[in-house]
Amino acid sequence: MFDELQDLYQQVILDHSRSPRNYRVLPSANKTAQGLNPLCGDSITLYLKIEGGRVQEAAFQGAGCAISKASASLLTESVKGKTPEEIRALFGHVHEMVTTGKTTSADLGKLAVFAGVHKFPARVKCAILPWHAALAALEGKEEKVSTE
Ligand code: ZN
Repeated sequence: MFDELQDLYQQVILDHSRSPRNYRVLPSANKTAQGLNPLCGDSITLYLKIEGGRVQEAAFQGAGCAISKASASLLTESVKGKTPEEIRALFGHVHEMVTTGKTTSADLGKLAVFAGVHKFPARVKCAILPWHAALAALEGKEEKVSTE
């Protein structure tokens, strides 16, 4: 059972890394930031269009490993319709999950596929990189953020 769950998680990650959702430049974005993970060579630029206090559109571009791409892809789906406050709270839950494998939030949806990442400490930064970029974008920092 546990192995089947592992397989399912891997399938979701593979699917999102091979066919990333919202993989494009977003010219209408009013918040953007680039995240770099020098350890793995991941580079993700995140675009957010915020209107009326909520994310209307989210997109990303960049190069990276399967984990960072899948994480960015799922992030762009997860933050749509959310307020910056809700995204910060979500980041807290995702961070807890990828570092401990556990979460106190029952509402992570597809993001739960990254729970297995905690067993591979080197990949934690890959999974969390797009989230660092999202937070930097929300704070209005246009400069590059690095996981180092
Ligand atoms: Zn990576």
